[in-house]
Amino acid sequence: MAKLGNCVFCQKVIREGQLYHHGIDEIACEACAPSYGDMLAEPGSFRDFQTDEPLTAEQAKAAIDAHLAKGGALTDKMVSA
Ligand SMILES: [Zn+2]
Repeated sequence: MAKLGNCVFCQKVIREGQLYHHGIDEIACEACAPSYGDMLAEPGSFRDFQTDEPLTAEQAKAAIDAHLAKGGALTDKMVSA
C-alpha cells in the first residue's frame, strides 16, 4: 500500500487504508490523533478545511454535537481512512 507520510508526533509510517488524522500540513497516526474532547477543549488549534481559519468554539461544538448525535463519544479519535 502506498505510504502517505509519517505521523507528525511519533514518526510512524502511515499507509493508505489506515486510520489517521488529517491536519493542515501534517498527518497523525491513530494513536496520536486528537479526540473530539480535545477539539472541545482547544477549538482554536483546529482549522476549518474550507476557510483555513481556526475553528471558533461554536463551530467546534457544532461538529462535536453532530458526532455525538451519530452515536459517537468525546473520547473518539478524529480519524478517517
Ligand atoms: Zn503517531
